[in-house]
Amino acid sequence: MDRIMNRPLSRRRIIGGLTVGGAGAALAMMPRFGGVAVATRAAQSTPAAPAADAPSGPFTLESLPYDYAALEPHIDTMTMQIHHDKHHQAYVDNLNKAIADLPDLHAMSANELIRNLDQVPEDKRTAVRNNAGGHVNHSLFWELMTPGGGGEATGAIAEAITAGFGDLAAFQEAVITAGLGRFGSGWVWVVLGEDGKLAVTSTPNQDNPVMEGGSDPILGVDVWEHAYYLKYQNKRKDYLTAWWNTVNWQTVNARYDQALTG
Ligand code: MN
Repeated sequence: MDRIMNRPLSRRRIIGGLTVGGAGAALAMMPRFGGVAVATRAAQSTPAAPAADAPSGPFTLESLPYDYAALEPHIDTMTMQIHHDKHHQAYVDNLNKAIADLPDLHAMSANELIRNLDQVPEDKRTAVRNNAGGHVNHSLFWELMTPGGGGEATGAIAEAITAGFGDLAAFQEAVITAGLGRFGSGWVWVVLGEDGKLAVTSTPNQDNPVMEGGSDPILGVDVWEHAYYLKYQNKRKDYLTAWWNTVNWQTVNARYDQALTG
């Protein structure tokens, strides 16, 4: 479940389709993963190569599920390029470096690693926490945005938002406020609380609610300066407000459903 939760639209699964079903079958199924995303992948630049001194696995960086420019004007092209190709790549590279000599950990997903940090030797634990966290968080973040996103919430999450916050504007304001309240770098999260209602939380650095035994977050927004500084400079609130124009309600609903059914 963890892997599915964090990679609902993963390239690996599409490539898996090619292997299992043959090219024709895979092409036929691609529109289900989002026609726009698949159509633009070939036109993207090739995925960034790992740093020369980094092992090439076991973790790899997947391409964005849309073009770098797809979220303009809300998230600018250069921010997307640097954020994905440099920052996310660095988390992947540094995670691979951290576990290079720990083959017992190579079969674990990044999500499993951050849920089980006590299984990581102490001298590598902080590196795994930060970099597996960064890999999980960013893999989720890309899937939570989509070209033409935003607008009114749809599906079951819309009802949960109304039940928990009154209306969408109040919910969005709660997320923005939590993002503004996070001093320094971190993330704001929407999780399913123990009372069965949506709750807004935040963590520092590349931490994730599952590190403290929580369930997979339903939604997360990166509030590191690298996520917005080129376009929004110090105006984190403007970024957080604009971010809602990119939100992929379909992904949010899928994750809400997973959280409910556990
Ligand atoms: Mn980031």
